[in-house]
Amino acid sequence: MPRLYGFEDASRRRLRDDEIDATRLMVSRALISDESNHDIAVWANGEGYRGTLGGEWKDASIGRLFRTPAIAGLRYDDDGELVDAGHLGAITREEFMALLAREEARSTKVPEPAYDYLLTGGASTCGNCKWDLGGARTNAVTPGYRCRPKDKNGHGGCGEVRIDAELLEGYVGEHVVAELLKPGIRAQIAQAQAAVRKQVEDLKRDIKELEGRQAELGRLYGNREISGEALVAGEREIASNLKGIRSRLRYAEQMANFSLGHAKDLVKWWNSAPTASKRGITLLLLEKIEVFPASARGVRTIEPGRVVLHWRKLSGTSGD
Ligand SMILES: [Zn+2]
Repeated sequence: MPRLYGFEDASRRRLRDDEIDATRLMVSRALISDESNHDIAVWANGEGYRGTLGGEWKDASIGRLFRTPAIAGLRYDDDGELVDAGHLGAITREEFMALLAREEARSTKVPEPAYDYLLTGGASTCGNCKWDLGGARTNAVTPGYRCRPKDKNGHGGCGEVRIDAELLEGYVGEHVVAELLKPGIRAQIAQAQAAVRKQVEDLKRDIKELEGRQAELGRLYGNREISGEALVAGEREIASNLKGIRSRLRYAEQMANFSLGHAKDLVKWWNSAPTASKRGITLLLLEKIEVFPASARGVRTIEPGRVVLHWRKLSGTSGD
């Protein structure tokens, strides 16, 4: 019987210090840093740790190690209960239980098909706190929008608003299509799209300029004209600006590029159009979509006042 990783021999009377350290580090990466077995294997191999037969770690061998009770000085008895094995372990019983729970959570996770949210990225906001709604799934695995509650860094919204994605998107879609049926609207949309195209060019120029500054920073650092801290601070600022501008560019391009073509039946057009086109037209027509809490949990209709649509003033429209 081969020896178990962390132990000198099959009798498990003595631990191997270097492997015990490695085991503890791997376990803390799993439990504290929430890393996947794959990432842990990559890390362990990078550190030069090898299995008992000298092979590289793989996610499967990490998984096997984490499921072996002996690493916590435990064994399963005949009834399948975890009991003291009478030898030392590298980790505590509590840590081993946490590893089992982690394994359980990983194996029962339902693979969810990605839902293509129409109104994330600033298109819909929480009526209570003004935070942008994000995509979220309820326990029933139904896609929904929600105001994400504050995390431990205080980043987030009030957490009070949640709405079924199809309910909200259906409501918005009906109103957008009704707007598109108004006379003269297509000409106004064409004008608005021309303005957005100009904006797309501006955003692209801003991105080029920031990328130029990025290269310049690297050059200055290479010539030792600025410190490593200044380089890092500068790069961080540029990266954050770039991220914001790139996401505005993506939406602006969606607004500029959709085409209603000669669609006569706009309901049909809406129902079959790609999300990017629907998002483009929605963002072009609506400045903001505010969602307020429902009167009770599980309300399956849009109650009056729950969703407030703020229409943009396109040139020549009365706006409402
Ligand atoms: Zn909120």
